[in-house]
Amino acid sequence: LPVSVVIERLCATIEDYPSQGIVFKDLTPVFADGAALRQVVDSLLEPFAGKFDAVAGVEARGFLLAAAAAYATGTGVITVRKAGKLPRAVYSESYALEYGEATLELHQGDVPVGTRVLILDDVLATGGTLSAAAALLERTGAVVAGIGVVLEIGALPGRSALAGREVHSLLGV
Ligand code: 5GP
Repeated sequence: LPVSVVIERLCATIEDYPSQGIVFKDLTPVFADGAALRQVVDSLLEPFAGKFDAVAGVEARGFLLAAAAAYATGTGVITVRKAGKLPRAVYSESYALEYGEATLELHQGDVPVGTRVLILDDVLATGGTLSAAAALLERTGAVVAGIGVVLEIGALPGRSALAGREVHSLLGV
């Protein structure tokens, strides 16, 4: 089956989570299915073959994808974390959420200058999270090779927030 069909079949949709009016897409059943997980990770990697030296994941679901993708390609994982989790000097990027603000952080000096980094996450919605992740990587001197997501929520302006970057999603909803 095409990867988009596999994701569509396994993905759960939860209305009014985490708050009223939000339709939440839950990919945990995709991660829990061995064949689906492998197909998803292979499909995320395919457009970027040979174009990256490391894989960055955004906490927390992006870590799962990044670790699998890095292991499959013999590259390393870079962890883009929520504020306050990294013990050494960090770069920080704050961005707007629907209500309030969030901050992502990356250790300074973890990524050699010029490293080509593929960034992975589960869902692209407004693009705020992945824009912040890309900005952090560029502040360390990395080159963002591209962005891969399992699911893209098409009604939201995620693509325009990431304009000029190579973005691939496996399924748009
Ligand atoms: P954005 O910053 O693009 O608005 O939101 C994307 C981030 O929020 C991702 O890190 C993603 O994990 C999380 N997110 C937003 N909406 C959803 C959703 O419907 N399902 C899941 N699983 N994550 C979401």
